[in-house]
This record gives sequence, structure tokens and C-alpha cells, in this order.
Amino acid sequence: MTRDKRTLAVHAGTRRSQFSEMSEAIYMTQGFAYASAEAAEARFEQAGTDEFIYARYGNPTVRMFEERIAALEGAEDGFATASGMAAVHGALAAMTKAGDHVVAARALFGSCLYVLEDVLARFGVQVTLVDGLDMQAWAEAITPQTRLVFFESISNPTLEVIDIAQVSALAHAVGAYVVVDNVFSTPVYSKAIELGVDVVIYSATKHIDGQGRGLGGVILGTKDVIRGIIEPFMKHTGGAMSPFNAWMMVKSLETLELRVRAQ
Ligand SMILES: *Cc1c(COP(=O)(O)O)cnc(C)c1O
Repeated sequence: MTRDKRTLAVHAGTRRSQFSEMSEAIYMTQGFAYASAEAAEARFEQAGTDEFIYARYGNPTVRMFEERIAALEGAEDGFATASGMAAVHGALAAMTKAGDHVVAARALFGSCLYVLEDVLARFGVQVTLVDGLDMQAWAEAITPQTRLVFFESISNPTLEVIDIAQVSALAHAVGAYVVVDNVFSTPVYSKAIELGVDVVIYSATKHIDGQGRGLGGVILGTKDVIRGIIEPFMKHTGGAMSPFNAWMMVKSLETLELRVRAQ
């Protein structure tokens, strides 16, 4: 990471309270107080920056994690989730509907394969699995009906390294989104967005926590995608990250580069 990013790893997203604490606070709260019924109504209509409504929608400590990891990834925005799978399922379910076509690499983490082959298929999404290393196979599978392509940039556990730029070019040529599960790359090595990925997903449970303590995940992308497509789905379906885990992940991001490089 650049020196700028090392600074962001320690400071990005920090929301300091009136006590000027050095270490980020854990806002262990579901709800938030309002000065008046009118203020509550206004916030429910349109919450401003740093205005929170309910912790399933957002929470100050969770927001610190979202902004810090978005800054490291070079993404405009992010939505944190209870686990990596809440992020994978949330992104795929939010971005598809019955009748859509999805193309995915076959070498996937078992639970990702379940979401594609069992869950999405049950809701009328047609899924084509391809050998992710075979660009001809991607080119033949992607059609004008393809809504999105999905793959692990480095697959778990088979460690296939997929050519992000080439697959992204094929997908974008038909207007499909590129959604990448980027777990093994981590924001330390990731160039996913630069190479054309629209939505980057992490299981924070892995290298981001890195110390085997808790589950977490995040969906990263443009403000339009995160606030327009992902947030409405996630906030109503309940896969929110806990403020305690968000605090753990915020602290973990400070040492991510040191740990991942050493590893
Ligand atoms: C672990 C993992 C997940 C799931 O993450 P959880 O936090 O365990 O839900 C998804 N994709 C990949 C590539 C993983 O390694």
C-alpha cells in the first residue's frame, strides 16, 4: 500500500465523540434519539451524513469500518455485513431478479456455489458455470441476457487466479456487472476496481480480522450501486454487521498490510 493508504488504514472513517477518544468508540446501540417527532420523521425521509436511524440500516462504528475499508480498496462506498456469505448472498440477490442470467466461475467456495446453484436458481435466475481460466468459455457463456458475472479473483481453496481485466471487458461489452469475491487478494494487493470490477466483496472473517475472532463481510462499489441497489436490500433483510465486530475489524485494518505481507 502507498503511504497515503497506510495513513487511511489507521484514520479513515474515524468518528470521534465529544470525549476525543484515541481508540474508536464502540457504539453498541440499535436505536438513536431524536430531538422531536418532526426530526425523527425528517431523518426517516432522508438521513444525512452521520445521521443514523436503526442499526440494521447503519451504525456509527459500522460506518467507520465501511469507510475505512472503502478508502483502502479505492471504492466510493461500502455496506458491512454479518459474514462473508451475507455479503455474497446480499450482493447477488440484490443485483438479480427472476429471468436474469448469471455467469460464474466453477471453482468457488462451497457456500458461494450453493447461493448460485441452489438459492438463485430457486428464484428463477439462470446460472451458467464456466472454467474461470478459459476466456473462450467466458466469451461463449456471456450473452446480452447476462446481468452479472461472478468469480473469486483467487479461488478458495483451489487458488485459481482469474484474469479480472479480460472477464470485466467481456461482461461490460454486454452491459453486465462484474462482482468479485476478493478474499485472498485483500485490499493490500487488490487492483480489482482499477481492472474493471463493479462490486468487490470481502469476507472480513479471513485476513481482515486475521486473528480468528469473529465473522464479518463487506460489499464495496460506487455510491450509486451501494446506496441504490445494495443498501435497500441489505437493510430490510437483516444481514447487518454488529458494532462490536465492526470495531474489531476497524482495529484489524490498522495492521492488515503488516500481517498480510508477513503471511
Ligand atoms: C470464507 C469465504 C467466504 C465466506 O465468508 P464467511 O465470513 O465465512 O461467511 C466467501 N468467499 C470466500 C472466497 C471465502 O474464502
